[in-house]
Parts: sequence; C-alpha cells; structure tokens
Amino acid sequence: MDKKEQIILGKTWEEWERECPAVKDMLNLRETVWINPDRIPCGEAVKSCSLTMEDVLDASRRLERFAPYFEKAFPETAATHGIIESPLKRIPEMKKALEAWGQTEISGDLWAKLDSHLAVSGSIKARGGIYEVLKHAEDIALEQGLLREGDNYQVFDSDEFRSLFSKYSIGVGSTGNLGLSIGIMSAKLGFQVTVHMSADARQWKKDMLRSKGVIVKEYASDYSVAVKEGRRQAESDPHCYFVDDENSQTLFLGYSVAALRLKKQFEEQNITVDREHPLFVYLPCGVGGGPGGVAFGLKLVFGDDAHCFFAEPTHSCCMMLGMATGKNNEISVQDFGIDNVTIADGLAVGRASGFVGAFMRPFMDGCYSLDDSRMYEMLALMADSEHIFLEPSALAGMYGPLLESRFPAFKEYLEREGLEAARAAGTQLVWLTGGSMVPEEEMRKYYESGRALLG
Ligand SMILES: *Cc1c(COP(=O)(O)O)cnc(C)c1O
Repeated sequence: MDKKEQIILGKTWEEWERECPAVKDMLNLRETVWINPDRIPCGEAVKSCSLTMEDVLDASRRLERFAPYFEKAFPETAATHGIIESPLKRIPEMKKALEAWGQTEISGDLWAKLDSHLAVSGSIKARGGIYEVLKHAEDIALEQGLLREGDNYQVFDSDEFRSLFSKYSIGVGSTGNLGLSIGIMSAKLGFQVTVHMSADARQWKKDMLRSKGVIVKEYASDYSVAVKEGRRQAESDPHCYFVDDENSQTLFLGYSVAALRLKKQFEEQNITVDREHPLFVYLPCGVGGGPGGVAFGLKLVFGDDAHCFFAEPTHSCCMMLGMATGKNNEISVQDFGIDNVTIADGLAVGRASGFVGAFMRPFMDGCYSLDDSRMYEMLALMADSEHIFLEPSALAGMYGPLLESRFPAFKEYLEREGLEAARAAGTQLVWLTGGSMVPEEEMRKYYESGRALLG
C-alpha cells in the first residue's frame, strides 16, 4: 500500500500533511519552523501550572546543600564552591562565521551557554540527572535517620553512607549522556547502578561507565525501547529506583535551576533582558526534559521577554511533531516512517516526553528542525572560530540565529510580536548541551566530517 493511503492515528498521511505547513515539512524530512499558536502571556500561564517558582527554588536549595559534598567528592567543582554551573560566553567570532556561512546578518549579541563544559559529566544532563540522584540519596538518608536538617552534606562522602546506598540500586534508560550522569553520580555515592543504553550510544560512553563499576546493558533498538526495558526490570525490584526520562518532574526541576543561575550571570555581564532587550534561546531537544526544564525556568525568571525554541534533527523531530499535531507523546516519528537516525545521539528520540509537550504548551514560542549536515558544519565552524569543541547535538541550537533569514514563518512571528527592531538590542543565546568529554579521536572525526562538508 502507498504510504500516503495509510491511516495514522485516525488520519491519512495527506490529511496530516494538511494540518499545517510545518507538519508537511516534517513528514517530508525538510527543515522547518513551527510557531506555537497556543502560547499565552506568562503571567497567565503560570496560574494554571502545577509547578511553581517555589519548586524551582526548592531544587536550587537542595543543590546548595550538596555543594560541600561536591567540593570534597569532585575536586573539579572546587572553583565554583561545589556548584555545578557552566560558563556564559560571548561568541563574536562564531557570529561572524555564522553570518558568512548563512549569508545573512545576525541581529543582537550572540552568546553561548557552555553546558558542554559542565563538571562531572560534560553535558546538560549534569543538571537534571545528577539532581535526581541527589534527591533520591537525600530521601533515603533522611528516611533511615542518618541525616538531619542542618547537617553538613560532606557526610555523603563517607563509608557509612556508601554502605547504606549499596543496598539500593538505580536504573536509567539513555541515548548516552543521561546514562553518563546518572551512572557516575550513583556509583560515586555507592549505589548499584544499571544503565540501559540505546543503539545510538557511543562506545566510549559505555566503556567509561563500565570502568566506574556501572552495569551497562545494550539494546539494538532505540531510546524508547531502552527506557521501557529499564523501567520493566526496575519494577520487579523494590529496592531499585528508576530515573524515568520520559516522565520525571524531578529531572525537569533539576534542569530548571539553570535559569536562576543564568539570571545572575547576565547581571554580572550587564546584560539586560526586558521588552526593549528581548532574549532568544535555542535549546537542543531530545525527549524534552532538559530543554523543557530550562525553558520553564527561563519563563518564570524572565517572563514574556524570554523567547524559547526547541531544536531537533529532521529525522528525530518528535517534540515538534507532537506539539504541531497536538498529539504530544501519542505520536512518534516512526508512525510516519521517519527513521530516528541521526548523528546527534543526544537528540535521537522518536517519541517525546509524556508531559513536557503539554506542560510547555502555554509557554513555548516554537520549535525547528535542521539536517545533520548543518550540525557537522557548524561544529567545524565553532571549532575554528572560537576553539570550542562540541558534540553534534550541541550544535542544533546554533541554527537558531539563522531562522529569521531562512524561514518566512519565523520572520512573520517576529513581525507579529513586534520584535524585529528590538532584536538588534537584545541577546541571542545558544544552549551548547554537550561535548567536553568526547575523546579526541572521536572529536577529530566529527570535525573532519564538518570541514569536508564545508568544502
Ligand atoms: C540529552 C541531551 C539533549 C536533550 O535533552 P532531552 O532532555 O533529551 O530533551 C541535548 N543535547 C545533548 C548533548 C544531550 O545529551
């Protein structure tokens, strides 16, 4: 049967194509932009929202309680006093390189948030992933009477605590980086930990985890299957806690703390965010918890002056497909024969999170997709211009500053919102989500692929 005659979730392919131009582009693997028609003023959106600023502050305070522990257990966090936070960096040379490559001018200042260089696990997952393990460890320690309010959390780095945690286990399903964060953190605290890795996961990530005593189970299929298997195996063990990347609000809140930290960094750099100085943020999106959590925090902190976009590979555009069709996690890219194969292993997800799409609906400005070749090319541009080496996923956000010149839908959005002129005085921020732990040999291959494509 012709694929166009198939019925998918109650509609033919052609009916889906008629939903909106972005859906048609997605089904045909074309790069596209989708602007969210259901975004409402932030002040209203927060009113009907199940999570609040108090939840974000609670997460932030928890991370502060653990800071003395990190200083002791991970000496690389000493410079930031046990707080795992990434630099904010202006990237003027990359701005020039992007302008030349895209044959356009980029308005406003271009900045990068270097989660690629976060301590402990070198990706955005060092936020949510580590946070959820810490929360679980704190819960157990309180419950078992080993910890009291006001205690110095350096006690978590003791044989007594490690022996307690060795009776518990933690499981997670991952395309790689979440496994790295959960694995490293859990093993350090003394938990038994199993990481269920999808076929996309790089060998070096599996090797590194095994060297730290983590059990790595490998699957020939994609992320959803690794998560499902992990969840199933954890269910049969009452002492096993499963970090559920598809559904966890704890992960989400761990990510959201980034916004409070960014606000401080902006103040230190004298960067203003207001109606006259809008902030545009481009966030690489896999299942959605990381970029969704960060975007939620940004909306709470900066309100309507923060404009947030999810960025995905054309072959794994599950969040945009879910949001544009309104089907969220009921729909997968595979439903339309899209293969979910991408070099951006951190974004190789075919079905979005169970709650992020719906939860972020009143907040998000939009989504876009880009081809893998662009990520390679921008990876090489970034290395040459700023000497920052990233994994391909991290470059998905770098396409954001070019949307205005390439996609009429984005330009119309700017006009409608009255943002065109203000953008010149504002800030464009690209969230660089990973890369500092990629082995040199692997990085050279990425770089060479990019250079070859640039010609
Ligand atoms: C996981 C990951 C993302 C996206 O986070 P999700 O929570 O899966 O949406 C982006 N970039 C990198 C490098 C990642 O590892």
